[in-house]
Amino acid sequence: MTSNDPSLPTNFIQSIINEDKANNKNEGRVHTRFPPEPNGYLHIGHAKAICLNFGLAAANQGLCNLRFDDTNPSKEDQEYVDSIQNDVKWLGFDWDDRLFYASDYFAQLYEYTLGLIESGAAYVCDLSAQEIREYRGTLTEPGKNSPYRNRSVEENLDLFKRMKAGEYPDGTRVLRAKIDMASPNLNMRDPVLYRILRATHHRTGDQWCIYPMYDYAHPVSDALERITHSICTLEFADHRPLYDWALDKVDYAVDAMGRPQQIEFARLNLTYTVMSKRKLRELVMQGYVNGWDDPRMPTISGLRRRGYTPESIRDFCDRIGVAKRDSMVDIALLEHCIREDLNRNAPRAMAVLRPLRVIIDNFPEGQVEWLEAENNPENPDMGTRLVPFAREIFIEQEDFMENPPKKYFRLSPGVEIRLKSAYIIKCEQVVKDGNGSIVEVHCSYDPESRSGGATSGRKIKGTSHWVAADHSAPAKVRIYEHLFTTENPDGYDGEADYKTQLNPHSEQVLQECRIEPSLAAALPGSRFQFLRQGYFFLDPEESKPGQPVFNRIVSLRDTWAKILKGS
Ligand code: ATP
Ligand code: MG
Repeated sequence: MTSNDPSLPTNFIQSIINEDKANNKNEGRVHTRFPPEPNGYLHIGHAKAICLNFGLAAANQGLCNLRFDDTNPSKEDQEYVDSIQNDVKWLGFDWDDRLFYASDYFAQLYEYTLGLIESGAAYVCDLSAQEIREYRGTLTEPGKNSPYRNRSVEENLDLFKRMKAGEYPDGTRVLRAKIDMASPNLNMRDPVLYRILRATHHRTGDQWCIYPMYDYAHPVSDALERITHSICTLEFADHRPLYDWALDKVDYAVDAMGRPQQIEFARLNLTYTVMSKRKLRELVMQGYVNGWDDPRMPTISGLRRRGYTPESIRDFCDRIGVAKRDSMVDIALLEHCIREDLNRNAPRAMAVLRPLRVIIDNFPEGQVEWLEAENNPENPDMGTRLVPFAREIFIEQEDFMENPPKKYFRLSPGVEIRLKSAYIIKCEQVVKDGNGSIVEVHCSYDPESRSGGATSGRKIKGTSHWVAADHSAPAKVRIYEHLFTTENPDGYDGEADYKTQLNPHSEQVLQECRIEPSLAAALPGSRFQFLRQGYFFLDPEESKPGQPVFNRIVSLRDTWAKILKGS
């Protein structure tokens, strides 16, 4: 195995793995895990971590576990456990029989902790949370030892057992690691390992009233699962000494196969959105969006609801790569990825979002002509379909102007346009109501102007999409914009009030759209390119028979491709 193996990912973590394999570390095994806390729905940042952990395992003939880090019962819930499993599967990854919970290890961890106390590496501290903070010191000043730091092993064991037995109220005592109150790393100043918390856990119920802290449970869980590479985001770099401390001190069944190594990578940040579960939860709970799966949310369930494919999200995660420095990724890249996917794979169809009635006076009344139209010019294998043409059709309101400016190449009095896959029409007359609003437009058509016809080669500047009035069906269409008006709603110091940057126009619902018959017959969950309007998803939850609801995934304008060209 060499580092130039083209089948392997090219990132710094793969390089570490290559080296570990070369040294036969862990006997060459690669075993990763994705460790979400079930306190919210997964977002696109988690997708990066999922693709990375499952992807590295797969590329190296290794394994990846799904482990719920459920050490904080006050914020966790079964609903989140279920949604997370669903999202990981939907993204295309499989943990086989390796679904674990940190709470599975509570009893084991408690036993290990008794050993830790016996070895003198932990003590029960009676300082309040406030006092612990005061004693901790600052980045420039060392901390002070807790007055409880020198309790005897016997007293510590007794107190810890009684903490577990429920003898003390919440918050009155904690178990702390005995490390170094003068450490330059604040995480090493006798961090809390266990706290008293009376909260019903979604799996262990009321069995426990003490819960381990994440920083303590995590390395031990990794060790118990024989994880080799424990990949996490950069903010945990300062916690790594504590991770290693726990592995050193805790008497877990030390395995000749080796011990886990924590490796940090840069989290994904995306423009025009926020990415912390806390903020996403606020948006949901305070009703700024319609739930975790609102199509405007950067959650995996929101992207799925919007119409994103798992392939496009995996492609995005591939392209952004894995770095050691935080950066901000342009959301235009994510949109580019779904366009690339759907450009190849989505059938084209015609839908008129804001209909204007057009009557073709020289087309026979009552006649319907079924015209052949290409399903996907990028992919001839997708074949053709028949689209009905009749005397009365709809075009977009914005494709007609009574008094057009120069260079307006759409329909206006006396001007011709081509109807996609159909004929050339010419505007003959405009009909208005008493208020001067346009009611309908009368046109003539050139019967020889279809593809193959005598006048089909005539040069016409504008081409419009259309549907037949009576042979189209009604639909509701939702047009989305970014959820926030600014690129970085958190502000570059992370302090801005992101809720003041919400985009009031992020969802626009068009109630009176008209769609061609192929769309009216489409299966919920299918995706289309509506000619000239973008890529759309037939929302499987909101649509009812005869009342389809389409979400616009993205418009056709690829700002990322433009960025690429310009650079
Ligand atoms: P948030 O900060 O959004 O609330 P979290 O880190 O608290 O997320 P966890 O459930 O602990 O959420 O995350 C599970 C895994 O996903 C962790 O390994 C974490 O490092 C990773 N992860 C979380 N957010 C991102 C992100 N934006 N980019 C990449 N990985 C992420
Ligand atoms: Mg976390």
